[in-house]
Amino acid sequence: MESHDNFAYLLPFIFFVFGCTFLFLERWGSASSRYWGFGYVSAALGFASPLILAGLPVPVQAIVSNAFFLAAFFFYGHAFLTRFGQPVLLAERLIFCAAALLGISYLIIVKHDLRGELAVSDIACATLLVIPLWQAHRHIRRPIDRLLGAMVGLAIADSLVRVSALLILTSSGTYASLEEFVASDYAFFMQMTASVIGFLMALTVLGTVMLDIVWQHRHAAEHDPLTDLLNRRGFERAMPDFNKESFPSGAVLVCDIDHFKLVNDRFGHAAGDMVIVGLAAALRDGLPADALAARFGGEEFVAFLPGVTLAEVGVLCNAIRLAFAARDWRESGVIQQVTASFGVSSTARGDHSVHDAIGRADACLYAAKSAGRNQVVMEGQQAADPPTQLRVVSATDLRA
Ligand code: GH3
Ligand code: MG
Ligand code: MG
Repeated sequence: MESHDNFAYLLPFIFFVFGCTFLFLERWGSASSRYWGFGYVSAALGFASPLILAGLPVPVQAIVSNAFFLAAFFFYGHAFLTRFGQPVLLAERLIFCAAALLGISYLIIVKHDLRGELAVSDIACATLLVIPLWQAHRHIRRPIDRLLGAMVGLAIADSLVRVSALLILTSSGTYASLEEFVASDYAFFMQMTASVIGFLMALTVLGTVMLDIVWQHRHAAEHDPLTDLLNRRGFERAMPDFNKESFPSGAVLVCDIDHFKLVNDRFGHAAGDMVIVGLAAALRDGLPADALAARFGGEEFVAFLPGVTLAEVGVLCNAIRLAFAARDWRESGVIQQVTASFGVSSTARGDHSVHDAIGRADACLYAAKSAGRNQVVMEGQQAADPPTQLRVVSATDLRA
């Protein structure tokens, strides 16, 4: 019995430490961490309830401890849904918890049915994990997510196996009272498997939370906060290597908003920011999914399009240029047409890095600017389009 008693103290302590760790890690930017924290603290309270509620009547102890476990599984589900960006189904899951607790209380107070109580409690807890797992299963892709999904699946299986064992092995309730049940080997074994799975799940959760934090900081280090395109560092890291024998074949584009200083001066910096976001969106929409598009600074963008020819990138850039020039900016407070100029090149044998190709595209961009802006100039070509001067148009003009 002594080992049982030690275990009874150790388990809530371990769960409590995990819970506090998850609550603490929330500060580093993991949104789901807080809910894992609430879940583990609730489970710790559930496991500790025979100790902390020792003075209370047995039915009250049973109901409160069931409430803690329902809360724990509710929060695990909440954390899981939050992590995979799924709707949290708050009202539905809360109503389900309330109904389960009501049923459990009825079985405890009115029916004195320990077997029924355990079965309903386990099924309810399993359901609180099944719903989120079902809801999020399509978004489980990375290995660590699969491991987390597997752990949640294991916790569900554990509950279901326990219910089946309980229903099959005890046909009319082997244990007469809660005290007798709590002291039984069955209860010890039940706590043992639940705690081993809970512990493994906590380690997996810790892994996901830490990786989420690392990914988030890495994303922040490699992306531009205004447009969420790559920044220069992210672009360079994502670029395939150039070496003596081979080079990544593809096209490079450089683009820059025309007379952007005037947009800022006339309509304000915030409106200018919206225009920058707009060009980033036009690039995102207009370029192939595998293109590496980056904001290199100010209102200047660079992209590498793997496997795309110069002629193809010229067509793409022209479509982006036209879409951008046709955009109505009044919602952003810019009462003016805004255009952009493009220079394009392709990577070539002898290039030491993508910057050689960017340099050639930059020269084309310079040519496009000199030839009157709002045009695409391709490597080896002269500025072709007739110059399109920036026009200041009235709102009525834009509507027309
Ligand atoms: P050009 O047609 O020759 O490119 O003329 P331009 O006025 O667009 O060129 P220039 O490089 O002289 O001006 C770029 C301006 O971009 C200057 C700077 O104030 C503004 N700028 C740089 N970064 C930001 C930003 O993050 N937000 C806003 N709103 N403006 C920015
Ligand atoms: Mg400019
Ligand atoms: Mg510029």
